[in-house]
Amino acid sequence: MPDRLLVDAMCGKLTTYLRMCGYDAAYVLEGRVGSEGSTSESPPDDDIAAWAKRSGRTLLTRDVGLVERIDDAVVLTARDTIEQLGELHAAGYALALPESPTRCSACNGELRRVGSEESLPPETPNPAEEPCWRCRDCGQVFWKGSHWDDVAATLTSVTD
Ligand SMILES: [Zn+2]
Repeated sequence: MPDRLLVDAMCGKLTTYLRMCGYDAAYVLEGRVGSEGSTSESPPDDDIAAWAKRSGRTLLTRDVGLVERIDDAVVLTARDTIEQLGELHAAGYALALPESPTRCSACNGELRRVGSEESLPPETPNPAEEPCWRCRDCGQVFWKGSHWDDVAATLTSVTD
């Protein structure tokens, strides 16, 4: 299954799950189509189609019109994020958390392990006791807290 994905506007909550599973999941509303940076408006279909093709990403979308224009897009019918995960699982996508997170759930940047000498936000656990990762792009710090367990449980419920 492709590990480079482009997530359409109506499926945005999927991106968090996909990134936590290690997918390189770009999101159309995070705007890398034009040069004007981030936007809250969905780009035109032509731009989305061009983005998917140019970047070699598989489009995940609920937009049937868009699916007709792109050969290998995956059409999702559910509105609910958990049901969308079920559809991806049925389509053959592996949905499980890796041993260590590799992608920033906020921006899709690559994560690197935090060293014990780094200064970290006050709420961060001690990296000598609890592994932490920092996004190379946006700088956000992650660790496997209760959210990680919740997501793992959700993914298990979808894939079992
Ligand atoms: Zn980031």
